Amino acid sequence: MEAELAARRRGVRVTQGARSLLDMLLPPRCLARGCDQGGTWLCDACIALATPTPDQACPTCLEARTRGGPCVRCSVERPAIREAHAVGKHVGPLRDALIALKYRGRTCVAPRLAELMANPVRPLADRSDVIVVPVPSHPRRVRRRGVDVPRLLARSIAPLGTWEFAPDALQRVRNTPTQVGLDRASRAANVAGAFAAQGLPSGHLVLLVDDVLTTGATANACARTLQSGGCGAVVLVVLSRANNLHHR
Ligand SMILES: [Zn+2]
Ligand SMILES: [Zn+2]
Repeated sequence: MEAELAARRRGVRVTQGARSLLDMLLPPRCLARGCDQGGTWLCDACIALATPTPDQACPTCLEARTRGGPCVRCSVERPAIREAHAVGKHVGPLRDALIALKYRGRTCVAPRLAELMANPVRPLADRSDVIVVPVPSHPRRVRRRGVDVPRLLARSIAPLGTWEFAPDALQRVRNTPTQVGLDRASRAANVAGAFAAQGLPSGHLVLLVDDVLTTGATANACARTLQSGGCGAVVLVVLSRANNLHHR
């Protein structure tokens, strides 16, 4: 951290490679705002502060419900994903950790986030018919940020269940404008036909990995593409569930 601050003071921008090197050399410190716990990139106390999604949440969009089962919208729209799992809401320590990873190149925290994300799908561990597929990022945005977050998280999740990692099973065939700020219908229209699938093992269960779930438009477009390519059920695994359309 001191090295980064010193570099900033000298007006030197810490590149992704330099940042990763610094993270390997320096002892881990919790990245949640206001916490400086040593020994880990996201400490247990901060994880305990994460706001879980409600117990009665809709299984496919994770929106709060007063009783179990799908919400009205999912009953009508019939999402292509079978179920969704999030570690918690997109606030507090989870949001801090994701911003550090996504915008400040702190890839060191990815394995810790992957562990949390894999927890709800542990019952699928060691099954030989499961593949882990990241939601494809925009190549332009990856070039700008230097980090492909869903791919990084998916790569760390796959070994936790000894699942096959299939990073290129889905491709983005159309560069879509950002989803931030778009309403639900515009988001679905924006990503329709944006993906293509290749080399899918027939009938396999897919763990589709993304960082944040908002309306589910992107995940469902991916799931539809995967299923038309021959795979079976698609289970979405994300770090956090955002309640508004303006998360970053
Ligand atoms: Zn902490
Ligand atoms: Zn729903």
